Amino acid sequence: MTTIYAGPVINPQSLTSYLALPRCLIAVDSNGNILWIDPDVDNTNLPLAIAHHGVQAYTLVQLKPGEFIMPGLVDTHIHACQFPNLGVGGDLQLLDWLTTYTFPAESKFKDLDYAERVYTDVVERVIASGTTTCCYYGSIHRDATMRLADIVRKKGQRAFVGKCNMNWHCPDYYVEKSVEESISATVDLIRYVQSFPLSPAQEPLVHPVITPRFAISCTPDLLAELGDLAESMPQIAIQTHISENQKEVDDTLRFFNADSYAGIYDKFKLLRHNTILAHGVWLTEKEMDLIAERGAGLSHCPTSNFYLNSGMARVGLLLDHGVKVGLGSDVSGGYNPSILHAIQMASVASKMLAIQSESKKCNCEREHEHSDISSDSAEVEQHLKHKEGRFANKRLGVATLLYLATKGGAEVCCLQDRIGSFEPGKAFDALLVSVRSESGNPAMWSFDLEREPSPESKLQQWLERFLFCGDNRNINKVIVQGTVIGGQEYQA
Ligand SMILES: [Zn+2]
Repeated sequence: MTTIYAGPVINPQSLTSYLALPRCLIAVDSNGNILWIDPDVDNTNLPLAIAHHGVQAYTLVQLKPGEFIMPGLVDTHIHACQFPNLGVGGDLQLLDWLTTYTFPAESKFKDLDYAERVYTDVVERVIASGTTTCCYYGSIHRDATMRLADIVRKKGQRAFVGKCNMNWHCPDYYVEKSVEESISATVDLIRYVQSFPLSPAQEPLVHPVITPRFAISCTPDLLAELGDLAESMPQIAIQTHISENQKEVDDTLRFFNADSYAGIYDKFKLLRHNTILAHGVWLTEKEMDLIAERGAGLSHCPTSNFYLNSGMARVGLLLDHGVKVGLGSDVSGGYNPSILHAIQMASVASKMLAIQSESKKCNCEREHEHSDISSDSAEVEQHLKHKEGRFANKRLGVATLLYLATKGGAEVCCLQDRIGSFEPGKAFDALLVSVRSESGNPAMWSFDLEREPSPESKLQQWLERFLFCGDNRNINKVIVQGTVIGGQEYQA
């Protein structure tokens, strides 16, 4: 039966725009795909408005005042096996953090009962955070990662699930013993996930993903084999880390005798349209061009980049170079599994970069004023030229942040034809958000409800306040492929 949602809708359009539609109808067919959208209806007579579309039988979901619908959030980078470490380890940087906290925690997943218990909680919590599509890293363990995929499937989330490939620079207790073992476990997992039944829309909801942890955790032999495997399965996505931390970049270039981190993945045929690269904090512009040329996507994980003292990814510059960008929580480098938090930190990071750039420019100009040396003028010009990009060194606004968390994430996952915004034919992956008094933080929301600006600007305010002040308590329904799978109103 068709389900019709009636009420305010937020629909991302581009990196700089979204639609705020106070009186919208979205019709969803029994397979969970969007049939049609009516952007502005007379909501005093809904049956008549619906009858105009020729729909006879339907279920009507009419939103209450203070509720709105928006596309589900996409988390392009998260480690399911690191949740037991949430909020631990912010004193260290990446490589020490891995050996001190992370490898010991991940090694526990050889115990399948433990894996089952933790992964059940993890997936429920990620769904409750409003993440409808999620790119999960498991541990190195094949069977435990199969359990993770099972749980994701059972819960109805759209996801990518991969097991880490690691046979180099790892402790004895947490390492794959050979290239053969690593490849065969990867192929087993891919086949296992591919055997899952299709969704009602006749497509897989859970996808396998080839997951070399990062360059220095894989010998050149293993990267070469993974490249061959990827080449033989062009439709299978690849996820890995890149240029997260300066010491990691130095070590990587040294171990591979290379001058470009992105170039290493490219050499091993692992940089392509469906590669998801996490972080990219220290990428050079030349690397950005290579990534854009290959069509790979970048997962911006600002919470993690602050927490592990890594730095700030130049998201604006990446966008100017034409790189696809989405957001990632990167648990447990990131201490918060919600993409709302990633949105907030992405905003802070972009403001910091803008402030730094502005003050650099002011210093540059001031020095120029007090100097007769003509080369300074070239330096100022160079600096100003660099600043002229569309997004580089500028604050990311609400429309851009919303885009990164939805449509941008969909592009990074190569799912832009299915999710990320509302269009006829796309899957209905959505959140029903509430800013009503009974949601968290009531005094703030109810105050807003009583004010009466125009409906459209009110909806824009609700969105911004949800992105910056909201949490799980404001998410009443989490919907994937038309089916409610979580949220405050969800009953299993
Ligand atoms: Zn990570």
